[in-house]
Amino acid sequence: MHEYSIVTALIEQCETLAAQHQAEAISRVEVKIGILSGVEPALLSQAFEAFKQEGVCANAEFNMHIQPLLLQCHDCGQQTEQNERTIICSHCNSNRTQIVDGEDMMLMQLEMATP
Ligand SMILES: [Zn+2]
Repeated sequence: MHEYSIVTALIEQCETLAAQHQAEAISRVEVKIGILSGVEPALLSQAFEAFKQEGVCANAEFNMHIQPLLLQCHDCGQQTEQNERTIICSHCNSNRTQIVDGEDMMLMQLEMATP
């Protein structure tokens, strides 16, 4: 499953960061999930719960922030937030837009437990 490989990579990233900061455990993990990232939040959360057992994330809380699609319009210069896949500016209906956010999934913040 797609989400399982994402979580494996995410937990590896957490372990690397924890090691760099000499932290023994991570208490909170915050991720941003773009609506176009193809990641299913419910499955991601499930996968995290399943995989966190043996690592530094064993007691970590998992918070997900859903990032809407953010378009920058080249015609009117405004930004549009969309909750569906589109390239149309909601201010002037132009299709000369560029995706600024909402396409990727990334680790936003980690809270480490100090020993
Ligand atoms: Zn526009």
